[in-house]
Amino acid sequence: METVVLKIEDPVKQSAQIERAAALIRDGGLVVIPTETVYGLGGDATNPLSAQKIYAAKGRPSDNPLIIHISDPRDAEKYAFTNELYYKLAKAFMPGPLTVILPKKDTVPRETTGGLDTVAVRCPSNAVASAIIRAAGVPIAAPSANISGRPSATAVKYVIEDFDGRVDMIVDGGESEIGLESTIVLITENNGLMLLRPGAITYDALCCVCENVTISPTLEGTLSENEHPISPGMKYRHYAPSAKFVLLDGNEASIIKFLKEEQKRCRCAVLCYDEEAELLSGGLLLPIGKRGDLKTHARMLFARLRECDTLSPDIIYAHIPDKAGLGLALYNRMIRAAAHTVLNVED
Ligand code: AMP
Ligand code: MG
Repeated sequence: METVVLKIEDPVKQSAQIERAAALIRDGGLVVIPTETVYGLGGDATNPLSAQKIYAAKGRPSDNPLIIHISDPRDAEKYAFTNELYYKLAKAFMPGPLTVILPKKDTVPRETTGGLDTVAVRCPSNAVASAIIRAAGVPIAAPSANISGRPSATAVKYVIEDFDGRVDMIVDGGESEIGLESTIVLITENNGLMLLRPGAITYDALCCVCENVTISPTLEGTLSENEHPISPGMKYRHYAPSAKFVLLDGNEASIIKFLKEEQKRCRCAVLCYDEEAELLSGGLLLPIGKRGDLKTHARMLFARLRECDTLSPDIIYAHIPDKAGLGLALYNRMIRAAAHTVLNVED
C-alpha cells in the first residue's frame, strides 16, 4: 500500500489535514500519529478489524492489549467504568503521559483489549494527536509505532523505517517531547494505585495524589516464571540491540578508565554524557545529554539505540541510571534492552 506522509505543525490552521487523518481512522485505516511520549500506530479503538490490522502491522502478539486515546478525560465514561480516583488522576495529570487501567464497557471490543475485561485509557497532551482524536469522533487505539521488538519511534524518520508501505498515513509532528512511553497505573480494589510501567509521571508524583501507591512485582523483577504479569506487555522481550548491551555501574573515574581500555580493545559504542565526549574522544560515541539531565536522556534514548544498530559495534555501553524520579523509567527501558546485564567497574 502507498503510505502518505503528512506534516502537521499547526492543527488549527491545518484543519483540512487533521480531517484527512481522522477520516482514514473512521474508515478503518491505520494512521501513525505523534504524541508527547512516542509516536503511536493508530486505528479506531471501537473497530475490531482496526485492532487486528494494528497487531498485524506491528507484528505484535494479539494478547498484548492496546491503549485507547481520548481527547477529553471525561470521555473515559463512554468506554470504561471510572471512579473518584480516576478523576483525581485526571485533574492532576491529564492531558498528559499517564495511562489508567479501568474495567471496560462493551463499547470497546475485546480485540482492542487483547481479550481482557479492562481497558487502558490515556488522554495525550500533544495538540496534533488531540485534534485528530476529536475530529475522528472515536477513541484511537495506538500502541507505540515500532515493529515489535524495536525501540519506540520518537521521530518520523524512524516511523518511516518501520512502517512505510504498511500503514495508510504517517503524520509528522516533529520529535517526541518526552521520548519514553506513558506511565501506566492500575486502580486497585482498596482505592490504591499499582504502577505497572514507569514513565514521565513519576512514582513521587503519583504519591502526591494517592496515599497507597505500590510498584508492580514485574517491575521489581520478583515475578517467578509461572506467574502472569498484570500488564501483558511486560512479559514480552523488549528491544535488544543486535550487539551485546551492557550497563556500567561505578564511580565516574572508574567508568572512564574502563571505557578507555575498552576503546583500545574493541569497537565499542558508548551512550555517554555530553561532558564525557571529550574525555573519550574518538570511537563510537553517542551523547545522550548532560549528566543529570534526565529529561534529555529520556528524549534521546530510543533514537540512540536505533543508531547503535546502524553502527554494528562489538559491544554497547551505557551508565546504569539512578532509579529516582524519571530515572526509574529510564532504568526500566535500559535494563530490559540490556537483558539485565550490569557490570560494576569500580576497583
Ligand atoms: P504500548 O502500546 O506499546 O505503549 O504498550 C502498551 C502497554 O500497555 C503494554 O505493556 C500493555 O500490556 C499495557 N496495557 C494495555 N492495556 C492494558 C490492560 N487492560 N491491562 C494491563 N496492561 C495493559
Ligand atoms: Mg511499545
